[in-house]
Amino acid sequence: MKTSQIFQQAKIQNNLLEYESTFSDFSWEREAKFLHGLPDHQGINIAYEAVDRHADNQIRNTVALRWIRKDRSFEDFTYGQLKILTSKFANVLAHLGIVKGERVFSLMGRIPEMYISVLGTLKCGAVFCPLFSVFGPEPIFQRLSKGEARVLVTTLAQFEKKIKPMLERLPELKYILITDTDINLSEKVLSLPLLIKTAFPIFHIPPTDPEDPALLHFTSGTTGMPKGALHVHKAVLTHYTTGKYVLDFHPGDVFWCTADPGWVTGTSYGIISPLVHGVTNIFDEEEFDAMRWYSILEEHTVNVWYTAPTALRRLMRLDFNPNEKYDLSHLRQILSVGEPLNPEAVLWGEKTFGFPILDNWWQTETGGIMIANYPSMKVRPGSMGKPLPGIEAAIGQLTETGIQILEKANQQGQLVLKAGFPSQFRTYLHEEERFKKCFRDGWYISGDLARKDADGYFWFIGRADDIIKTSGHMVGPFEVESCLMGHPAVAEAAVIGKPDPLIGELVKAFVVLKSGQIPNDAMKLDIIAFARKKLGPAVAPKEIQFADNLPKTRSGKILRRLLKAKELGLPEGDLSTLEQS
Ligand code: ATP
Ligand code: MG
Repeated sequence: MKTSQIFQQAKIQNNLLEYESTFSDFSWEREAKFLHGLPDHQGINIAYEAVDRHADNQIRNTVALRWIRKDRSFEDFTYGQLKILTSKFANVLAHLGIVKGERVFSLMGRIPEMYISVLGTLKCGAVFCPLFSVFGPEPIFQRLSKGEARVLVTTLAQFEKKIKPMLERLPELKYILITDTDINLSEKVLSLPLLIKTAFPIFHIPPTDPEDPALLHFTSGTTGMPKGALHVHKAVLTHYTTGKYVLDFHPGDVFWCTADPGWVTGTSYGIISPLVHGVTNIFDEEEFDAMRWYSILEEHTVNVWYTAPTALRRLMRLDFNPNEKYDLSHLRQILSVGEPLNPEAVLWGEKTFGFPILDNWWQTETGGIMIANYPSMKVRPGSMGKPLPGIEAAIGQLTETGIQILEKANQQGQLVLKAGFPSQFRTYLHEEERFKKCFRDGWYISGDLARKDADGYFWFIGRADDIIKTSGHMVGPFEVESCLMGHPAVAEAAVIGKPDPLIGELVKAFVVLKSGQIPNDAMKLDIIAFARKKLGPAVAPKEIQFADNLPKTRSGKILRRLLKAKELGLPEGDLSTLEQS
């Protein structure tokens, strides 16, 4: 570890000093007192907590958002400026007759208008639904129609290419606001800059009930058709608490969440949580590029960095020590979410940056981080950590009528959460039955399998759908994939179960090799032998197939169901979120 890193870390006292006592003393009622609330007890509004209350106090001139353009130049927006811009946007919506509960969608990259629209929409009481900018026309249409979009904020290029041809099929879409034109294209297709120019800069946020809907997020579609999870303003309490204890924000911090706001991580943590804490939130308009990312971390002196296993694995693959070229000494914490974080990656963090990468677990449905590794808590590489204070997590087994909580350590079962936490989704849009099925005996059933060790650490096993049943064993793909990644030639791996008449399912691995490694039979045998030694013959893969890349969702999750469908010659299912490589 560099001396400067030791100094940095010594200077900061973690917000969560001791896990057990913080957990046992915690109450959401007490926590809610840290939020400001709308003036005159008019409720809780996410945008007020994130922007207005800061703009009205001493951090008015602190940078709230920093937009890094594709050419690496950047532009800052202070909390004061953001208040005005978002108020103007809220006035634009009000002027267009948009009322509480109606849905405003966005389809654009990571540009300031994206951030302004989210917060402005929340101010005016409408519900925001971000779409990922590289979606093709069909996934866009499905989501706009299912979500009954009233307004879409987008760019001219996106409009011309994708939206214009489908306009007639979207009769409920009243307005399209174009971010980069100065002329109105029709009565319905309007110039956002023109509207903003004339909009009044002050907006009085109407009373907002904590249960008022705020955000609609579609899931990643890893296991099937994406579902629309609806969240309410009260979710900001989870965003606040996780910002404090997990991201461990401190005044003056510079934070970078690499997720796109088209996904829940990019909104909950790429917008709301850092702003609620009054820190500086940077975002990069460009896609992943290893050297660009390292140089952004250096140039913008990022303190807390929230990213995903796919990105970390891509950095690891390079076999490059960033410290030789970049000064990353201000980096205090790196966190990861979205997929299991292999122990290899945790340890790579330790070796490369001087501290382990902190994995945390949550879902679109939970709206915020639920299980986490905290900077002050000892990390067990490969574990997702322990529940957030305020969250009761357990391992359960579904019975015919309800759920049985498994109390003994290390039993495998469904990862469940005690229902009723602030950021819990309130429904799946138009799928009330499906929503209800997620709850039993007061527990929310996540659909992921995990185990809890004797000290209360949670370990991810796999999605219930991905579990492999082989020779009487239940094998979680994560365990096998992590083992394979421990082989020196392996960069990435995905494991599926392939039906087999003798053993039920056979463990098959798709393996991406590190650059320079040769994909031949000798390598296959070597990898199988390596896995057999570590996992035993029952769990180790029996078949290996080399691949140049693994199919992933645009939010970076391995699409095992697609590998399986292809392997078995079955229909490929919904591919709206597939990343095109
Ligand atoms: P869909 O529900 O449409 O199939 P999805 O579940 O991938 O898609 P998200 O809500 O974006 O959609 O992802 C949440 C899921 O991602 C979790 O249920 C879990 O399977 C996985 N996940 C997230 N974080 C972690 C983590 N730290 N470790 C292991 N798995 C994780
Ligand atoms: Mg899911």
